[in-house]
Amino acid sequence: MQLRSLKQADLKGKRVLLLVDYDVPASDDTRIRLTIPTIEYLRQQDAKIIILTKRGRPDGHIVENLRTDLVSQKLQKLLNRPVTKINTTIGREAESAVADLNEKQILMLENSRFLAGEGKNDPKTAAAMSRLADLVVNDQFSIAHRAEASRSAIAKFLPVYAGLNLLLEVKMLGKLIANPQRPFVAIIGGAKISDKLPAIQNLSKIADIVLVGGGVANNFLKAAGVDIAKSYQDENYIRLAKDLMNHHQIQHPFDVIAATSPKSSQTCTLNVVDPQKSTCPDDNLMFLDIGPDTIKLYTTVIAKAKTIFWNGPMGVFEQPDFATGTKTIAQAVAANKSAVTIVGGGDTIAAINKFKLAKQYDYVSAAGGAALDFLGGKKLPGLLPMMIK
Ligand code: AMP
Repeated sequence: MQLRSLKQADLKGKRVLLLVDYDVPASDDTRIRLTIPTIEYLRQQDAKIIILTKRGRPDGHIVENLRTDLVSQKLQKLLNRPVTKINTTIGREAESAVADLNEKQILMLENSRFLAGEGKNDPKTAAAMSRLADLVVNDQFSIAHRAEASRSAIAKFLPVYAGLNLLLEVKMLGKLIANPQRPFVAIIGGAKISDKLPAIQNLSKIADIVLVGGGVANNFLKAAGVDIAKSYQDENYIRLAKDLMNHHQIQHPFDVIAATSPKSSQTCTLNVVDPQKSTCPDDNLMFLDIGPDTIKLYTTVIAKAKTIFWNGPMGVFEQPDFATGTKTIAQAVAANKSAVTIVGGGDTIAAINKFKLAKQYDYVSAAGGAALDFLGGKKLPGLLPMMIK
C-alpha cells in the first residue's frame, strides 16, 4: 500500500488541517508525542497549522471534560511553543482564528466529535471543515478504521496527505504482512474475541504460529472441548475458533490460573492435559491468566522467532494475581533481540508501561483496533483518501 506523503505537498504558507488522535488519559501523552515530528516538519515548511482531534464519544454534544484545552496545554509544553486554543470546531469564529494565523503558528480547534456530523461522515460537516484549510494532513492511524467527516468525507473537498506518524505506523505494520522474517510468531490476547478475530484469521495465514491468551483463548479452549465454566467467552465465535484451529497453527493455553472472580485472591492452577497438575477444588471458575506450563511453551516459541507481533494481555494483568502471564510474555518478547518486535493496543501498552518494558521493542503501535483491522486485511476508510495504490 502506498500513501500520498505530506513530503509531496507544497506547504509554504498553506493552511494545513492536521488530524491527530489526542484522545489520551490525563496521565499519558504518548499519542501527542507521536505527532511532534509532523508538527515540526510543517513548521519547517512554513505552514499554518490547524489541529483537529476527537476526544471520547460525545456524539454531537458538548461535554465539558472532553474539550481540547488539556491536550492543547500538553502539546504546548511538549513543543515549548504557543498553541492557541479556540472553543469552536467550524464556523465563523474558527474561520476568523485561522485567518489570523501566521506561518508556523499553531491553532487547536475544539473536539471534532462535538459536531453531530463528524461521526456520521456528513459531507456538510466536512465542507465546513474544509473552509478552514487548503489541504489536510492525516496523522491519526489509530482511528483510521472509522469513517468520519474529518478524515473521510473531507476528501471530497480537499487533498489529503499522510503525516509522518501515520506513514511509520503503516510501514511497520506493513512489514508484518509483506515478507516477514521467519519464524513469525503472533501473540493475541485481551478480553474480546470479536475485536481480534479478523486479525487472528489473517495472521494465522501469514504467521507461522498464533499463540492465544487472555479472554480470547477461552473461546479456543471451549472449541477444543474444554469446560471453561464461568470464564469470559463469546458463544457466537466458538465454531469459528474451531474451524481456525483445524486449518492453522493456533496454540491455545493448556494450563490456566483460575479463580471464582478477578477480585479473588484464592487462585488455583488448572491443567487441561495433565489433571494431576491441577490444584482447583471447585469447577465454577473463571480462567484469568495463562498457567506456568503454557508460559514455558510460549516463551520457548518466542525466543526462536524472527518476527513477533503482540496485541492483548495474556490475563487480567491489572490484578497482581493474574499478571504473571502478561509480564513473562512481555519480558520474553523484549529479550528476543534478533527479532523484529511490534507491540500494539491500548491495554498492551498499559501493561508494558507498568512493567517498564516499553523501550525494549522495535515498535510500539498506539493503534489497537485500526492495527488489527489493517492486519486483518481490511481496507481502512481513513486511509483511502491518501491511497496511491
Ligand atoms: P483488550 O482491550 O481486548 O486487549 O482487552 C484487555 C483486557 O482484557 C484487560 O483489561 C484484561 O484485564 C482483560 N483480560 C485479559 N485476560 C482476560 C481473561 N482471561 N478474562 C477476562 N478478561 C481478561
